Amino acid sequence: LVQRDQKHDTAAVQTLDSAHFIHPFTDHADLAAQGAKVIVKADNIHVFDSEGHKMLDAMSGLWCVNAGYARKELADAAYQQMMTLPFYNNFFNTTNVPAVRLAAKLASLAPEVDGRSFRHVFYSSSGSESNDTNVRMVRRYWDLLGQPQRKVIIGRLNGYHGSTMAGASLGGMSGMHAQGDLPIPDIQHIEQPYFAEKARAGESAAEFGVRAARWLEDKILAVGPDRVAAFIGEPVQGAGGVIIPPDTYWPEIQRIVDKYGILLISDEVICAFGRLGHWFAYEKFGYKPDLITFAKGVTSGYVPLGGVMVGDRVAKVLIEQGGEFNHGYTYSGHPVACAVALANIELMEREGLVERVRNDTGPYLAERFEELQAHPLVGAADTCGFVGGITLVKNKATMAAFDADVGVGMICRGHCFKNGLIMRAVGDRMIIAPPLVMTRAQVDELMGLIKLCLDATL
Ligand code: PLP
Repeated sequence: LVQRDQKHDTAAVQTLDSAHFIHPFTDHADLAAQGAKVIVKADNIHVFDSEGHKMLDAMSGLWCVNAGYARKELADAAYQQMMTLPFYNNFFNTTNVPAVRLAAKLASLAPEVDGRSFRHVFYSSSGSESNDTNVRMVRRYWDLLGQPQRKVIIGRLNGYHGSTMAGASLGGMSGMHAQGDLPIPDIQHIEQPYFAEKARAGESAAEFGVRAARWLEDKILAVGPDRVAAFIGEPVQGAGGVIIPPDTYWPEIQRIVDKYGILLISDEVICAFGRLGHWFAYEKFGYKPDLITFAKGVTSGYVPLGGVMVGDRVAKVLIEQGGEFNHGYTYSGHPVACAVALANIELMEREGLVERVRNDTGPYLAERFEELQAHPLVGAADTCGFVGGITLVKNKATMAAFDADVGVGMICRGHCFKNGLIMRAVGDRMIIAPPLVMTRAQVDELMGLIKLCLDATL
């Protein structure tokens, strides 16, 4: 039905799609009315639909195509590995070379802080699975230390940690909790550190960051400190609308988790692998997690791979005292996924993509985003590395928001599609996470399109 560089029968694909495909996070009545947009190919920072439209993909697929599209090196790595060893499991005392090499490489990329290092990796195939692993690993850790009552994991409202029972429970998306009787037991939430929404009159960002972090301490005391196992957070909340915490937030979180001895899980599914200008994002914010969730950018999305970087504190107990950990997935350490991840990391190192985002294109994007502040529809425009968010407001002088039923984000998103730009709308916030290969000239191209779409939304 759909072949590269040939004519596509869009209507036929849409009919089959409606007949057979249940999509993730999709209202199917809406989908059937509009017809699915059929994406058929991609190159560098652009994707193409079946009608021949070219679109600048400012979302990197779904926050993952860090190295950009159509990278031959990654396809070659997958092909070579498939012809050598397409699959073998890592259960029952077997291993494979790409999984071992990747584990060592990831360990070398995660900086040691205050003598705490990450020398071990547990693999999965996605961010959601990895957070399930975190729940089991954290509880196993406290069981082994003779504190089985420590079960409660604290996450944040409007945080996102995936779509499995545990992942959706750790996250704080009310729409997800409303379906399927979530959260599962022993998961609690605190408010998100969203300055624009939660700051008091006259409060500085720095003051707010400390106050927001102390909501964690309040919750620990309410639950009972000896019942709390861990806190989980995204360095910058992605799916929640690119919520960038004040610089004071994470150091205060660190002080609190240290004070009560609870584990700190940094969910870096979006933020790692260069997205914030570092291989791992805890380095940017200066905290010391015990576990790091990763997925997406590790393979630039070319094949599914995820995992948990396990810090020494947990690894020591799990490995030296634990015996067998009764947990694992068929595809934990899949050789093809690991070979593609290695090729992806080599490519990113060769092209200096992480440094480029940190020192060049990231600051340039921030500079260009500043200009958006002057736009009559823009209440705020902020970036962190290569993620950014724009808050659309009805009245710039009073910062009054649009009524929810206006759906201004979706209107803006519609204009983006029409004008060849893929941005995501989270409520009234338009968000981006472009491929890290984006050049300064392409940042200019992106900004031109964003301005065009904002004008069209006015
Ligand atoms: N954690 C975070 C921070 C995410 O952003 C996501 C996905 O967007 C996940 C976990 C879930 O990852 P996956 O969709 O690969 O299961």
